[in-house]
Amino acid sequence: MHGLLADGREIVYYDDRPGRDRSARDTRPLTAFAPRGELRHDPLTGDPVLIAAHRQTRTVNSTRAGCPLCPSRPGSPTEIPAADYDVAVFENRFPSLGGQAGGRCEVVCFSGEHDQSVSRLPAARLTTIGRAWADRTAALTRLPGVEQVFVFENRGAEVGATLAHPHGQIYAYPYLTPVQRSVLRSARAHRTEHGSCLLCHTVAREADGPRVVAATAQFVAYVPESARWPFEVHLAPRSCVGDLAALAPAEITELMGLYAEVLRRFEGLFTNPTPYMACWHQAPVRHRADLDHFYGQVFTTRRSADKYKFLASSESAAGAFINDVLPEAAAERLRAVRI
Ligand SMILES: [Zn+2]
Ligand SMILES: [Zn+2]
Repeated sequence: MHGLLADGREIVYYDDRPGRDRSARDTRPLTAFAPRGELRHDPLTGDPVLIAAHRQTRTVNSTRAGCPLCPSRPGSPTEIPAADYDVAVFENRFPSLGGQAGGRCEVVCFSGEHDQSVSRLPAARLTTIGRAWADRTAALTRLPGVEQVFVFENRGAEVGATLAHPHGQIYAYPYLTPVQRSVLRSARAHRTEHGSCLLCHTVAREADGPRVVAATAQFVAYVPESARWPFEVHLAPRSCVGDLAALAPAEITELMGLYAEVLRRFEGLFTNPTPYMACWHQAPVRHRADLDHFYGQVFTTRRSADKYKFLASSESAAGAFINDVLPEAAAERLRAVRI
């Protein structure tokens, strides 16, 4: 169900079962929503950089009291007007995209329960989340000027999550991000040389190798041969599927089950939950003749119980990664986690 928040932002509810009343109104006295992101380009690399100085004042909150993503209670309205919800998606109040920059930023809340995590949600909710991602991908792909729809979750303060409530985000970029531009270039070269899809080739090779972490009939989760991060898993369909919106309902359920298993394996790596970043690299809105195969990426910057990988000069300035963990050993560790 679609609605509008008090400042004009759009909110969409996705429920595990149909028939819920989601008509509650946002009663907060908010001023009209006016995104202020600015897109600049680095003249040396050509890379786009979003300047979003207004985000310095955005909400930082880890406790239930004052959480802007919990359902609204009488006297304490939040971003979600409903008294409870399953999955809620709304435009980010402090976006880096939109306005002059173009594109759009959305927030995806995975549960009305503050202390939940995606890895522990029941199968029905995982499917609802997958359905919400797919539906938003289709909607954002249709927005004028959008070139790439990037779905992601930062989980844990150590990797930049400013709110503890289980939630992710979607960035609809009005350009191809540097990583996607590189993948597109490689996919084009592979197609020219071999006449086939680079991702199909890569997934088939990994599926028979020593770095598989888990798999289903249609999807494979593996540590990539040249993983950049101490623990990193890619999840991909075995054959070409461009984005989450192109999956059939049963395929969404299958993929989300595998995804949650990967998250549980990450969370079980150490004695306390592992902070992680999880994202979906979906095929670009255009150029699908060259690249029409999405993949997920789950990774952590944590390399041992008390050590984190920092992005130092080589990674941050030169873009040249050094991984201290052997990818084959990382796969073995992830497979060994009891879930
Ligand atoms: Zn909350
Ligand atoms: Zn393919």
